Amino acid sequence: MKTNLLCRLMLVLLLIGLAGCVPSLPTEANPAKPSSTLKEPTAITVLYTSDEHGWMEGQKEGQGAANMVGLWHEKEGYPDKGRFLVLSGGDNWTGPAVSTWYQGSSMLEVMGAMGYQASAVGNHEFDFGLDVLKSRVTASPYPFLAANIDYKKTNAYPDDLGIRAFTIIDLQGVKVGILGLSTKATAYTANPAIVSVFNFEDYTAPLTQAAKDARQAGAQVLILVAHLCEQDLISLASTAQELGIVLMGGGHCHLGFSQMIGLTGLVDSAPFLRGYAYAHLLYNPDSGKTQVKDIGLQPNEGGKADAKVAKLVQDWSQKTNVQAGVVIGYLKNEIFRQSEAMQALIVGAWLWGYPQADVALTNMGGMRDRIPAGEITLGGITSVMPFDNTLVEVHLSGTELQSVLENKLLTPPAIGGLHRSGTQWVLNKTGKPLEHDAIYSVLVNDFMYSGGDHYTELARYDPKAYFTAIDWRQPVIDWIKAQHSSKSQPLDDAILTLEK
Ligand SMILES: [Zn+2]
Repeated sequence: MKTNLLCRLMLVLLLIGLAGCVPSLPTEANPAKPSSTLKEPTAITVLYTSDEHGWMEGQKEGQGAANMVGLWHEKEGYPDKGRFLVLSGGDNWTGPAVSTWYQGSSMLEVMGAMGYQASAVGNHEFDFGLDVLKSRVTASPYPFLAANIDYKKTNAYPDDLGIRAFTIIDLQGVKVGILGLSTKATAYTANPAIVSVFNFEDYTAPLTQAAKDARQAGAQVLILVAHLCEQDLISLASTAQELGIVLMGGGHCHLGFSQMIGLTGLVDSAPFLRGYAYAHLLYNPDSGKTQVKDIGLQPNEGGKADAKVAKLVQDWSQKTNVQAGVVIGYLKNEIFRQSEAMQALIVGAWLWGYPQADVALTNMGGMRDRIPAGEITLGGITSVMPFDNTLVEVHLSGTELQSVLENKLLTPPAIGGLHRSGTQWVLNKTGKPLEHDAIYSVLVNDFMYSGGDHYTELARYDPKAYFTAIDWRQPVIDWIKAQHSSKSQPLDDAILTLEK
């Protein structure tokens, strides 16, 4: 296996080497070249995605990482015909098994092979803990950027994790400063046990400092990669323009957009590699100014798969299929499809894995199989929950939650965190009845949130729900593993203790 990994690494390095336009990042041993000798206005093409969430295989056929690179070849002449920047707005991983089971390392390798040169630090970059983040960032073929994170205790910048405020990329004679920002929402959208050591600062001051530092380090063009929603970018746009930032890339809200505010371009792509945003820039070495010629969005459709990236993705997919046989626990008695035990296992594990939530609801139709007695495998959990759903955190008032639970048009869902006592719904966390005006955090799956099985009230009550991007099976898998069950100590009793 080691040799195999080594081969892949060499392949990535070879790819980077072959892609003439992909610059080596400046290090102390390899400083950025002195000021440009370019005479003519110089075109730069930015290819931008965010919230890739590990979807190297694509959510449907022809929408994967390899097809995306194919489109870049076809539409933009990437990588040989011009100067290219391939950038991400963060949340590279946490998604399907092919990414999550390897804690993001598989996606990092694929994005490296695609030629990414920098990424913002998304809230999901913290999902596997700080040690994993550090090893990912250290091994990454591209840097992770965020200027607005510091340790609460010391106010120190987390450069011990390898995160940087900015990087300078020498694009064949044009020095481009890429600045990064993380969303302030990371403080409560990532696991607090992991991120509570950090402040996620307001954006303006850290961005201003990073822009100044990048200029001092020789940047001639400034671009921002930010794990920030459109509204936050719009609020920052006038500051960005004053700082001479020509392009702001967003992330986190899973909405593609492109617009100009003054002279600054704002873009974000569709999530999950469903598409990319592009910006064509023109740098004028005489005036030192950069102009946005054209920005827009391109869906990831019809791209001829790039052979090298396709091979890499295929290798990871095969490895993941082999993993499906991995045993994660042991059951004495079969758990029947849609049984009380199955409901408890799913919603209970969600609340265990996402303790910020008060209540968890999942539609009964999403439970597709039983779990036979004996060894429980990863593939067995996939059979029960075959859809690639993710968890969505919805905020509902007591009245709204009650209306969902008592809607006669719906097949009652599996309910966790809440129980019935007489005519009242009682919250397990507090032991108190639901209050009409209090706001509760409710986990559902994205199928329900999008109105599946007639759960249309959810999005109507909370149109701005938080898409956690967590695969809905992952907490179930993680909980089963954490019980360390075996033939002599089967899982059955532990399921009864799960909060339902
Ligand atoms: Zn995010």
